[in-house]
Amino acid sequence: MTRVQHPVCHNCQEPISSRADLSTAFVGVHLATFHKQCVRQLPVQKAWSLLGGTPLNTAATNWAVVLLPLASVLFLVTRGAGNWVYFFVVSLIPAILRFYAWLRYERHLPRS
Ligand SMILES: [Zn+2]
Repeated sequence: MTRVQHPVCHNCQEPISSRADLSTAFVGVHLATFHKQCVRQLPVQKAWSLLGGTPLNTAATNWAVVLLPLASVLFLVTRGAGNWVYFFVVSLIPAILRFYAWLRYERHLPRS
């Protein structure tokens, strides 16, 4: 297994040395890495090409990873299966993407 020590920023091509400075986002179907300041400097057109326009390792994504599956399980329990099964499956997507970004890049970098 290949270890990724220092991913390169998709915007400025410089290496990213810490988890605190890492921002991961999808560019099309490719998971790209950015410096935090580089993701903020992206032009609007480029930012809109990121999946949802939101980097994966943010507080908002962390809340989505926790709250969406909880809400879907709550609906499954209180409303019965039916179409809520699809909501449950869709609610796991942020968690799967977040876990993939952590597995691929974040876990290899020091925290600060
Ligand atoms: Zn950069």
